[in-house]
Formats: sequence, structure tokens, C-alpha cells
Amino acid sequence: MELNPSEVTSVLKAEIENFQSEASTEHVGQVLQVGDGVARVYGLDHCMMSELVEFRNGVMGVALNLEEDNVGCVLLGNASSVKEGDVVKSTGKVISVPTGDELLGRVVNALGEPMDGRGVIQTSSDDLRPIEQTAPTVVEREPVTEPMMSGIKSIDAMIPVGRGQRELIIGDRQTGKTALIIDSIINQKNTGGGDPSNPEQVLCVYNAIGQKQSTVVEVLRRLEEAGAMSYTIIVNASASEEASMQFLSPYSATAMAERFRDAGRHVLIAYDDLTKQAYAYRQVMLLLRRPPGREAYPGDVFNLHSKLLERSAKLSRNAHELNPEKYSGGGGSITAFPVVETQEGDVSAYVPTNVISITDGQIFLESDLFYSGVRPAVNVGISVSRVGGAAQTPAMKKVAGGLRINLAQFRELEAFAQFGSDLDTATQQALTRGARLVELLKQGQYVPLKNSEQIVSIFAGTSGVLDEIENAQVPSFVEGLVEHMNANHADVMIELDQWKTKWTNEIEGTVKSACETFSGQFSA
Ligand code: ATP
Ligand code: MG
Repeated sequence: MELNPSEVTSVLKAEIENFQSEASTEHVGQVLQVGDGVARVYGLDHCMMSELVEFRNGVMGVALNLEEDNVGCVLLGNASSVKEGDVVKSTGKVISVPTGDELLGRVVNALGEPMDGRGVIQTSSDDLRPIEQTAPTVVEREPVTEPMMSGIKSIDAMIPVGRGQRELIIGDRQTGKTALIIDSIINQKNTGGGDPSNPEQVLCVYNAIGQKQSTVVEVLRRLEEAGAMSYTIIVNASASEEASMQFLSPYSATAMAERFRDAGRHVLIAYDDLTKQAYAYRQVMLLLRRPPGREAYPGDVFNLHSKLLERSAKLSRNAHELNPEKYSGGGGSITAFPVVETQEGDVSAYVPTNVISITDGQIFLESDLFYSGVRPAVNVGISVSRVGGAAQTPAMKKVAGGLRINLAQFRELEAFAQFGSDLDTATQQALTRGARLVELLKQGQYVPLKNSEQIVSIFAGTSGVLDEIENAQVPSFVEGLVEHMNANHADVMIELDQWKTKWTNEIEGTVKSACETFSGQFSA
């Protein structure tokens, strides 16, 4: 038999090529070291940054540190079942979560898996979205123009938030940060009646990070009671879960929100809270031996928050024409309420300063105010909304114009008045007015107010109607006045609820005379 050398070489070459391509479809490595929720893996040469890797018993991990001779991964899920020497496969995919309408009303973890015991969430592979996405580009954005009404008087009147804005909620522990968010979510029911298929309905995503399970259960119960879960997703990475799940959950939550935004819908997302997310990130990074910087955070903790919050934006009306691949509708928005917890009101710590500089304003909550009974405990002096003024409803803008100044004057005079010396009438008037306004802006939990109701209440304060009555009677007066308006001038109230309605002389006349009529009834 004759051997043809060229045939032999071609067969061998083909075999070798086949062998190589077979071997390269699956990159495998071995666990070198594992513990504290992180693993070092040897042999994953072609691993990407943030790539999903699979350990032997179905445990997943994310590659975060690509070093010369090993890959540092965080483990998602049951870390105790991973052992040294285990085989690790890279998947070639980045971490993705299911998105879409099916998630509304559900409580899911950072991987989008249900946690509420209500069965599987019916989504297909088309619904999967990578949790890390690039933010909309400059041309795809628009300045904020529409209001995102929180239903809280002190916020909508003085620190208005627009759709697409990032407004930080910052304060010490137990100052009512979560309460503000819950009320804002409940208030969104006014936008579309709570029907998620109504295009006007603002959808909500509440991301709980490192919180007690009991707090999350309470939030869920409150939202269910208020009928707000029909348009809300809760993404929960509670204190008992791995640090990896805690620091990844905001990205997952944002991916879910982006699905709606890209279809032209409006979304409100709350991250409660980013301090705990930064703690989780710091923990993982120290375990992976990244060099620690200020306050032992890794060098990229600023980017951790800026890349997240940049994804909240107002999209331009023709975004779907500019980029039809990405957007199926224009004009959508994500409004973000990130929460940061301070220690003893110290806003100059690392994470608070970072997030203050990233966001478009902050709502500052103060323990002193909270304990003295001013709730919500908003410190008006240092709270700002840098872009929201453009989105405030015109009627509210007109009525609440003098509010900030009046309150600032009051706070200054209050200090003098304590000396008890004789005060001139102008000072006395400013003190009375201020005290009434402080009383007026107090608001209980779970009772967000409609635009019309807020405007009428604030008009009573700024026009001086309240100056005539006792401080203690302010809440019952305002409540009565709103009832009176709803009963006798329903048409005006409905008109004022349309956020584009202007504060005309006619409306002002009606509200003024209603105030007078009601004052008479009230004092009688
Ligand atoms: P944590 O730091 O624990 O997350 P937090 O800042 O989120 O706290 P909340 O849990 O919202 O604070 O509120 C703390 C307490 O204050 C709760 O018991 C809540 O019921 C109460 N509270 C909050 N807002 C109001 C309000 N407007 N009126 C009355 N009570 C309120
Ligand atoms: Mg809270």
C-alpha cells in the first residue's frame, strides 16, 4: 500500500484544528482558593471582565479581578458548596436578568428570581438583559420638563423633582428616608390609576439593599395595602444575602427599569440604600485584595455609583428614531431616588460627598427635626433640586414662591425670639407666619396628597389665611379646607390636578373666596 505524505499531513492538520476548536468552545479552570464568598480560579485565560462563570454544582460567579495568573470571582448563591480543586467553566456571557411586565407586582432577588413564593415568572430568553448597560448618549437625552410628584407637600412645593432627575435622599438612620420613598411610590397611583398597561402610569422599582427582611416585608405590606404593587417591582438583596448580590442588585433593578424606559414609559426607581451597597462592594474588593483607598473603599467606588445613576435619564421624544435598535419608543424616563445614610449628619464622608456630586439635588433629612415632631424631617435650607424647577407645575410654582424665603426668615428670627425681648410687629408677623408654615408642611405617612390638595393647603399658608388661627388648629383647618374645596369646587380641583394648569386670577379668586367662607365656618 502506498502512503501519500501530503494526504497524511492534511488529515493530521484537520484533526489538530478540530481538536483545538473543540477545546476552545469551553474554557475551563480550577478553583485555587475559596472562602468568604470569593474564589480564585486558575486557568480561565480568556475570561472577560464581569463574565459569568459556572462552578461545578450550578453555583454561578462573576469574574471581577483579572490577574496575571488567576481570576478573582465573587460567588452568587450558595458559596459553601464550592470546594478547592472544583472545575470552573466560563460561559462567555455577562450577567443578565429577566425583565418585562411579568415582573410587576413581584419580589425578586438580584438575579431576577422570585422570592415571594408566587411561582415562576414567565419570561423568555428575549426578556433577558445584561445588568450593566451603557447610559443613554448625549443626543438621546432631553432636559427634564414633566413633574414627578411625590405627594409630599414640602418636597413638591420647595424641592420639586422632574421625570428623569436623580434626587438624593440623605439623612441619619431612622429619619424617614424609606417613608418618603414609599409615599412617592403610592402617589404614582394618581398618574394612571394603578393600571400598569395605561401608558400614563409611572412604574416603580424599589431596590432594597442590605436591609432587614422585616423592613422589606413591611414595605411590601404597605404597598399592597395601598394597591401600589400592581405597578411596582421590589428587587431585594437583604442583609442575609451574599455581599455580591447586594452590590449587584441596583444594576439588576436598573436593567428592569430600562426595559420600560426604552419603550417610552416613565419609571421611578429607588435605591435603598447606596451606603450599604458601597459597604458590600468594599467587603468583596478587600477580600479580592484590591488596594484600599480612602475609608478603605477601592479606588473605583465613585464609578460604582456614577455609572449606575447615569442610567437614569429623560430620553428625547425621538429617541426611537435616533436609535431604533435600542429604543422602541421615545420620551421615556427613569427618575432615581438614591438613598444615602449619614453618621451624625456628616455629609462630608466619602460616599455621601460622591453621591451628592453625582445627583441633581438632595433632600436632607435631619434627626433633630424628626424628633421635634417636624415630619417629614426635611431641612429646607440645605435641600435643593438643581433641575426640577423647570418641571414644577405652574400653579404650584406661583403659590409656593414665597415659602422658602418665609421659612428661612422664620428660622433666623426664631433664634432671636428666644431672648424674649420686645419684638416689633413685622418680626412678630414673620414668626407667626413661619410657625404656621412649619405646621402646614407636616404630613403623616402613607397619605400622599394630590397636586390640587397641596396647592390649596399651601395657598392658605402663603396668603396669610392661617395667620388668623391657632397653631394647633392648622392641621384640622387645612384638612377641612381641602374637603370644602372638593365638595364645593370639584371642577377647580380637577383642573388643578392637571399639572399644566396655570394659576389664573379666576382660580385664585375661587380659592380665596372658598378660604374666606371656610374660615367663617371654622371659627363658628
Ligand atoms: P433606616 O435608617 O432604619 O432605614 P429610615 O430613615 O428609612 O430608617 P423610616 O424607616 O422611613 O426611616 O422611618 C423611621 C420611623 O419614623 C418609622 O417608624 C416611621 O413609621 C416613622 N415615620 C417616618 N416618616 C414619618 C412621618 N411623616 N410621620 C410619622 N412618622 C413617620
Ligand atoms: Mg430605611
